[in-house]
Amino acid sequence: MKVLFVTSEAHPLVKTGGLGDVAGALPAALIAEGLDVRVIMPGYPAAMERAEGRTDGPDLGDPLGFGRTRLIAARMPDGVPLWLVDCPALFDRPGGPYNDAGRADWPDNHRRFATLSWAAAYLGKVGDGRAWLPAVVHANDWQAGLAPVYLKQWRGPGPGSLITIHNILFQGRFPRTILEEVGLSPELFRIDGIEFHGQASFLKGGLQFADRVNTVSPTYAREIQTPEMGAGLDGLLRHRKAHLSGILNGADYEIWDPSRNPNLIRNYGVDGAVEGKAACKRDLQMRMDLDPKAEAPLFGVVSRMSDQKGLDLVLAVADRLIAAGGQLVVLGSGDPAEETAYMALAEARKGSVAVQVGYDEPLAHRIQAASDALLVPSRFEPCGLTQLYAMRFGTLPVVRRTGGLADTVIDVREPHGTGILFDTASVVGLWSALERTFALYADRDAWRAALRRAMQQDFGWTRAARAYRDLYRKTIETAT
Ligand code: ADP
Repeated sequence: MKVLFVTSEAHPLVKTGGLGDVAGALPAALIAEGLDVRVIMPGYPAAMERAEGRTDGPDLGDPLGFGRTRLIAARMPDGVPLWLVDCPALFDRPGGPYNDAGRADWPDNHRRFATLSWAAAYLGKVGDGRAWLPAVVHANDWQAGLAPVYLKQWRGPGPGSLITIHNILFQGRFPRTILEEVGLSPELFRIDGIEFHGQASFLKGGLQFADRVNTVSPTYAREIQTPEMGAGLDGLLRHRKAHLSGILNGADYEIWDPSRNPNLIRNYGVDGAVEGKAACKRDLQMRMDLDPKAEAPLFGVVSRMSDQKGLDLVLAVADRLIAAGGQLVVLGSGDPAEETAYMALAEARKGSVAVQVGYDEPLAHRIQAASDALLVPSRFEPCGLTQLYAMRFGTLPVVRRTGGLADTVIDVREPHGTGILFDTASVVGLWSALERTFALYADRDAWRAALRRAMQQDFGWTRAARAYRDLYRKTIETAT
């Protein structure tokens, strides 16, 4: 089965969050299951630089009037075949994949991701000129949302289309006037088209026109059908219920495994975990100017800073956490006010709180290894990956019972518990979970037993890849 996987980021070429991890791992897992998968993503400078074996692919001319565009055939470092959309006018610039160095969205994002979607739809419809024609175009998030729209607008037979929602809050909304600019009929600006509260929404277009829709955990698939968590799209999702499902993401243990991890001072597996983690904790305490206390429970955070992630709650309990003898290490970036508040906390609580603002992949691994518990108090969480990594690293996740967090962590009150869950996104809710964490930590045998169980969980990508294979089959059935 030939599948075109459309994404705006993929680790290790370009990553800003969970989608990058998924796009960096799922295609390889699908290939291992015998599928013929190719990835298409924008030719950002970092992607062009890091992709291997680049050769010229189809020349698309100037499809939408934004500049000369060609496809470059290449490979991910792990061998997964890749197409880079090479349109220098849109993608050859310094800064992030979605925003400039000052964090402002690129003003031409509608053009940039319409072009990605258009190129994917073109490959889906016409193929690469060398007999590679996908049976399914798998769009991810709003940046690929117009691919199913183009496919349905263009005449003649085409592939099945699937869109995966990695976070329903990101919808790609633009003024209605952009429709014609991106080569779509203004007639699509209607409630059962891509109109959303007076704007054109790329995500809504995808949800409306894709043959199938899915998201990254079964619980989130249910939650987004409710007015509280559907971000205005719950009605449409309820309407599409028969074609909506949830598949839990996996963890890439080639990358996220403490037993073979180049970022750690000491590697460890299940058996040497207590000693290994102690060495990693000492190392991190030294590197980040935390008091060298072996016995202080160390709480880690590795996260984007946004309202979604609930890190305001961590700020609010920090004093109590320290008073109870804990330490806190935070790696994150995003909301400027939150960044400032965390830096101020670190300044005021030297020795007990360490904060690094920014994006730092090796440090993310070190925090996972050194911490005793990882805090993920999200208000909503489509799947969440850091709690999966934490478990493999023997770090107990303390998570809110929502979305994929609820689907992956078992509370230690249960016989096979792997972490601590709490229900309400409030200071009281989080603090009660932390009290239970401190109590468990004090019971060394119980803690070590939970740590062992957490490390033995298997959230590898094979299960998810098989579920996607089945979903691709259904997508083809729905399309025909
Ligand atoms: P989301 O996609 O909502 O950001 P996920 O938990 O699905 O959340 O994925 C987050 C990914 O990004 C993980 O791989 C995590 O380690 C990584 N990450 C988040 N913030 C940072 C940071 N500041 N530095 C390094 N890695 C980070």
